Amino acid sequence: MLTVKTPDEAFSLIKQEFTHGCLPKEYVPLKEACGRVLSADILADSYVPDFDRSTVDGYAVSASDTFGCSDSIPSILRMDGEILMGTDAGILLQPGHCAYIPTGGALPRGADAVVMIEYTEDYHDGTIGIQKPVAPGSNLIYRGDDVCPGKTVLKRGRRLTPQDIGALAAMGIVSVPVRKKPVVGILSTGDELTDITETPGPGQVRDVNSPMLAAAVAQWGGIPRTYGIIRDDESLLRQAVSLASRECDVILLSGGSSVGEKDVSCRIIQSLGSLLLHGIAMKPGKPTIIGKISEKPVIGLPGHPAAAFFVSRLFVRKILLQLAGCDEEDRAVPAVLSQTVESNHGRAQYVSVFLERRDGILYANPIRSKSGLITSLAGTGGYFCIPRDCEGISRGETVMVTCSG
Ligand code: AMP
Ligand code: MG
Repeated sequence: MLTVKTPDEAFSLIKQEFTHGCLPKEYVPLKEACGRVLSADILADSYVPDFDRSTVDGYAVSASDTFGCSDSIPSILRMDGEILMGTDAGILLQPGHCAYIPTGGALPRGADAVVMIEYTEDYHDGTIGIQKPVAPGSNLIYRGDDVCPGKTVLKRGRRLTPQDIGALAAMGIVSVPVRKKPVVGILSTGDELTDITETPGPGQVRDVNSPMLAAAVAQWGGIPRTYGIIRDDESLLRQAVSLASRECDVILLSGGSSVGEKDVSCRIIQSLGSLLLHGIAMKPGKPTIIGKISEKPVIGLPGHPAAAFFVSRLFVRKILLQLAGCDEEDRAVPAVLSQTVESNHGRAQYVSVFLERRDGILYANPIRSKSGLITSLAGTGGYFCIPRDCEGISRGETVMVTCSG
């Protein structure tokens, strides 16, 4: 049997054993790219914007024509007309002249600043009074202010967000290089499990983990493939795991990961591939297995749904990101713990919390659930960790809550 590892040791092992960014590359249309992981740096090949533009509604001017003007002594400029949106300015502004320009309009040649409409007065005789001086460059963005050709706009390994999609659209990138989504096989084992469509008989429980893990995998950028419920029968289970290892990139096997008579996951993974770890010093989730079959990650998750949730949230998510070449860090927010949570069992303890804002302060309300309960986790916003060498965290202390999902 392998020795129990700490969560950090398990993360290091994942880093070391599974190749970073090994999933094949593919191109997807821009509208399908959000949430996907870039497989190449994105370099701009054009200027954005491609012309000098106004950032306000007002008058395009030569800044030097406005120097020294004020409310009481406005600069009087001759009005040369209006710049239309979406067209080349087409005007060459002479000294002492101005032109009306809307936000986003192209700056005419001869102008080097824009005066906001609020600081002007139209005398309706072909002249405009400017009541506030502007410096050259005021209220403008220049050609290439956003991006210039050759600039790296987004880095390989980035999981694309809506604002990234906006930048790609601005550069006219309609086909985006990303990593293929990994296919993740999900198998549940347990003689007591029934499919969610059936009413459980005496002593039976619904298979919670298959749908929960499938949802998690989809959220973390994988394609879940469920293999249903497999009885606690070593040869049946071996066949199913073997099939999944041929059809998928990653295999999740829920249940039977402990060391009991019926817990055969360990033996099966060992016989089809190799075992890297059996047991992580965490609560919930100790009986966890990480192994590989033909270089593909296989994770044996504890059957307790809350334990399966934490193990998958921490380690399966990490593996999927690693295969996609994404080093995204978890996001955590500080929150004040509303109740003392004790912990003295020598394992890192993960505690789910409801986040609640009262009088402007964010509180973390911990749930105290036994690891067999799943509905207690429903509705929680995140979790925090009590390190293994700590006896607990007192009410009123600040904890870092990682947003689950
Ligand atoms: P095991 O890890 O197989 O020893 O299972 C531990 C506990 O989790 C037992 O009470 C099982 O009934 C329960 N369990 C195992 N698999 C599932 C599942 N897929 N859905 C819900 N509960 C499960
Ligand atoms: Mg079982």
